[in-house]
Amino acid sequence: MEFEVHLPTLLLLSVAINLMIGALLWAIFRLRSRQDCFRLWALACGAFAAGSLLAGARAFLDSQWITVFLAHGFLGLSPLLVLAGLQRFSGQAPGNSRRFRYALRASAVGYCLILLFTFHDTPLNARFLTALYSAAIFSFAVYHLSRLDSTPSLPRRILQVLFTAHGVLMMIQALVICAGWIGINQHETGFVLRIILINHILLATATVLALPLLAFTQSEQRLRIMAERDGLTGLYNRRSLFRDGIQAFKKAEQKQVPLAVLMMDLDYFKQINDRWGHATGDAALCLVARILKQELRDDDIVGRIGGEEFAIILNITAEDDIRLITRRLLDAIVTNGEEMQGLPVSLSASIGGVEKADRHKTFADMMNEADSALYNAKNKGRNRAEFQQLTPEIP
Ligand code: GH3
Ligand code: MG
Ligand code: MG
Repeated sequence: MEFEVHLPTLLLLSVAINLMIGALLWAIFRLRSRQDCFRLWALACGAFAAGSLLAGARAFLDSQWITVFLAHGFLGLSPLLVLAGLQRFSGQAPGNSRRFRYALRASAVGYCLILLFTFHDTPLNARFLTALYSAAIFSFAVYHLSRLDSTPSLPRRILQVLFTAHGVLMMIQALVICAGWIGINQHETGFVLRIILINHILLATATVLALPLLAFTQSEQRLRIMAERDGLTGLYNRRSLFRDGIQAFKKAEQKQVPLAVLMMDLDYFKQINDRWGHATGDAALCLVARILKQELRDDDIVGRIGGEEFAIILNITAEDDIRLITRRLLDAIVTNGEEMQGLPVSLSASIGGVEKADRHKTFADMMNEADSALYNAKNKGRNRAEFQQLTPEIP
């Protein structure tokens, strides 16, 4: 069975889809007024639809200015606008962003000028030039995406694959046109160019569908981080710590494995703020957060649950001694917080700890006991750890 694609139908379908997605992106741009990338991506859809329509009008219209020059102007502009949108989306530093914009504009001017001087001879010149220009833009877009580490990886990979495929396709188009020029298999050339055109239309449509996916997953990731994390230290906030703590408690109960909870409170922190200023107080909180991340294992859960209060959920083993762990933490805080920003801050902390036992019915029971132990540590002179009903230390 022979499979024939009716090119005008595919072209009109792709124009309609691009116009619809373009309208959707424009509506998103109006609703999210600060995200300029959506405006540029909407314009890219419009440019692709306009270019395709004008190029397709060659069958009825006898003006090369419209069906070749203008059509390829729009078709070359479309990937350029996608790239410009990606650059806005990535929020590059202003200096870099200005250089990037100048480079894009210069490349667009160069492309239009070469197109202007070459399109008269044969429409293939314009197709060749557009293919080369698009391949260059897509290659740069792949490179640009690889530098956006903060974006979710799945939509980024999807776009990289689409851009790579599109870039390769455009290079093949340029090569096929070259082959036609030097007289290799003229008949086959037309057929291959037709296949390339079909894939080009499909890839362009898939790209404009993947772009909003990238933007939305990144927004969701940012919102999730804001909801889960403490803005100053980047540690879990109180809600996330309790959520994970409850889960860890249930898991420890089911699997009958040990679990420990530590509550840490910085000593005389009000005095530190009063004496050295709030900014130094904030720097001290960040320092403690860094020490906790460094000293503890990746699967331990660390949160800032109050002003200068931290909670830690330790997935311990039977061999672990939480006395040693807490001593290590307290020593690291004293050593690193002795002097901060050239000031003799003398930072220290107190810890209350508890290990999971049969008397604990919920995670909150463990937190309450850790809190009482912390109270004891404060009363016994600070910069120390106290534990609730821990097996006595072997002398
Ligand atoms: P103690 O040894 O008994 O814990 O004494 P303390 O001074 O640490 O305890 P207190 O509860 O009286 O003071 C806590 C201080 O923590 C008061 C508040 O100004 C400060 N604080 C809370 N949140 C922040 C913050 O985000 N940044 C800074 N710099 N200080 C904070
Ligand atoms: Mg305190
Ligand atoms: Mg406190």
